[in-house]
Amino acid sequence: MAKYFQIYLFVLLTAIAFYFAYRGYRRVYQNICLGKPEDLTDQPLQRWKNMLLVAFGQKKMFKNVIPAVLHLFLYVGFLITQVELLEVFLDGITGSHRIIYHAVENLPVLRTLYVGLISSIEIASVLVFIGTVAFLWRRFVLKVPRLNKPELKGFPIQDAATILIAEIYLLICIFSMNTADMALHEGKYGFAVSSVLQNLFHNWSHTSLTIMERIGWWGHYIGVLGFLVYLPYSKHLHILLAFPNTYFARLTPKGYVNNMPEITREIKLMMDPSATPPPADPNAPPPRFGAKDVMDLSWKNLLDAYTCTECGRCTAACPANMTGKKLSPRKIMMDTRDRLEEVGAAIAANGGVWKDDGKSLIENGYITIEELRACTTCNACVEECPVMISPLDIILQLRRNLIMEESNAPAEWTSMFTNMENNGAPWQFSQQDRLNWANA
Ligand code: SF4
Ligand code: SF4
Repeated sequence: MAKYFQIYLFVLLTAIAFYFAYRGYRRVYQNICLGKPEDLTDQPLQRWKNMLLVAFGQKKMFKNVIPAVLHLFLYVGFLITQVELLEVFLDGITGSHRIIYHAVENLPVLRTLYVGLISSIEIASVLVFIGTVAFLWRRFVLKVPRLNKPELKGFPIQDAATILIAEIYLLICIFSMNTADMALHEGKYGFAVSSVLQNLFHNWSHTSLTIMERIGWWGHYIGVLGFLVYLPYSKHLHILLAFPNTYFARLTPKGYVNNMPEITREIKLMMDPSATPPPADPNAPPPRFGAKDVMDLSWKNLLDAYTCTECGRCTAACPANMTGKKLSPRKIMMDTRDRLEEVGAAIAANGGVWKDDGKSLIENGYITIEELRACTTCNACVEECPVMISPLDIILQLRRNLIMEESNAPAEWTSMFTNMENNGAPWQFSQQDRLNWANA
């Protein structure tokens, strides 16, 4: 009876968690689809290479060795513990206990493999514990500057702490489960770490150990379900999105600035007076120069925003930020994601239709004009990002809109634009005087 109750409870909790997780991931997907189309499917081999090296191989992380090693502990631990989770899932749905162990118990090679695998999970879990404590220490005790910038106040810092504490909770559950199981079965499984830990519980009663094992088992599974549901609301979504984001990263050289087709067409018409302009489509929306809001950005910019890990490597390398300007490329990504969430929620509340809320991504509590103007377009943020995000691309699109649609530029820039238009150079000299320097 108790067995069937546990199975029902297990299935019920799983179904509820999967339902809410599905809603969360669907929301993220739908929001990304609000972006403009952009074809990023060329050169598939190069794209696979990027994904394997950068997302799977963590290549760019190793520019900074200590955090890279700590992150590697967490990453490998996360991947490897999924194997034990498979057994937890099978046990839960069938009402059995260590179903895989019992299936291979009498097959020496497979049993050794199983014990080796769970032992490596335990060793990885110890490394994850070290990594997690070190990350908490760096963030909250050492107060590493890039992890304590103003844009992280409030939810972002809580989010980072929540996940790190959740990691420790999951590790405690895994070790409670395995250690109690080992003590209950007099060490017959032979797992590496829990065979040592079980000595701490040698005088516990059978009932106490059973309760401890069940608490660990349920605690682990409920923690994993909670993680699954929470992930789409957290910066930790990068553990999934880093893979598509690196695959679909732009392959053009860094610093390449896309032409705007509307402008190219106008210039071509100006250069060739005999050309006939294409017939205007009366139903087409007016062209937009650059981007004013999230829907004007491409889906890849929006995927970037959801993939941002908020690590701040971009901000730490940004010369504008270093010299005390307000610009932080990390904040550009966070603001883009926050505005996208706001727009997505408004569309969902309005039956799938977007009603202009009179706001945009520029100002309104999001990216300020001051930040946009501070960017030197140096590309350092793009170079540093461990998951191939380009904050610069968003900055450029927003800045184009400010200048081309709002004529919003400082006086110095306006005179430079006029000089470019009249003299073909940023300086106030006539083209005829260009070679005067040679006569001096
Ligand atoms: S491109 Fe702009 S935002 Fe990026 S690092 Fe350089 S100045 Fe900072
Ligand atoms: S844009 Fe990249 S480097 Fe910057 S915070 Fe996000 S993940 Fe880190």
